Amino acid sequence: MPELPEVEVIKNMILPYLKEKIINYSIIRTKKLKYIIPNNIIKINNQKILDIKRRGRYIIIILLKNTIIIHLGMTGKLCILNKNDNIFYSKHDHIDLIIDNNLILRYTDVRKFGFWLWEIKNYKKNVFLKKLGTEPLTTKFNNLYLYNFTKKKNIAIKILLMDNKIVTGIGNIYANESLFLSKISPVRISNTLNFKEITILVKNIKNILYKSIKYGGSTICNYKLPNNNIGNFSKYFFVYGKKDKLCKICKNKITRIFQRNRSTFFCYKCQK
Ligand SMILES: [Zn+2]
Repeated sequence: MPELPEVEVIKNMILPYLKEKIINYSIIRTKKLKYIIPNNIIKINNQKILDIKRRGRYIIIILLKNTIIIHLGMTGKLCILNKNDNIFYSKHDHIDLIIDNNLILRYTDVRKFGFWLWEIKNYKKNVFLKKLGTEPLTTKFNNLYLYNFTKKKNIAIKILLMDNKIVTGIGNIYANESLFLSKISPVRISNTLNFKEITILVKNIKNILYKSIKYGGSTICNYKLPNNNIGNFSKYFFVYGKKDKLCKICKNKITRIFQRNRSTFFCYKCQK
């Protein structure tokens, strides 16, 4: 599943091809992904792209009056193709936006859990986006902010980190890794963490997200970058996906448990 760093990398890669360009028309090969493709996207006609932004794991294409909001689901991919080079498409290539009559922004999604929305209001008021909590890479997400939540909550710290209403888009991989780097057990009840531990945790969350963006995101299973280069941050993982492998710090075996049906990987010895 593309997480925040992957979506940020995709946004940064497509932006120079699309900003200030015109969407001439769309080719829709599949009527319904997770939700039905809106009519306004099916009938789009010569609309200028003012900007492209990311919010949580959403990509937001800002047009003059409206916005297109894209969620990649589990297996969604966006590619930039040259219209002249591209005459073939596969059954998983669901949407093409024709850009300036020479490029294609292509959406491919094998499992079809992704979706495209059309928003006529300010996109920040969109029903999905308005629910999202603070972005982890903004100054608003700091030690004091997180501590105010953790001291009130009687749930495992990893579950709190994955609550999108508190902080949006950390995701399973980066929750696991940042807790390891902070030497904090994922099952610790959040109100037992002191301010110093929260300070270290916030610093590690930001560092690991920045580092992952720098390395092009982390390819897990079927995530690929728009130009088909593979993100290579996963080789820097300490615990994620490493059940029974040896901890790089203490050589103890990495343990896997499940928290709310998601895999949690950690080292019993290093994380308290
Ligand atoms: Zn260890």
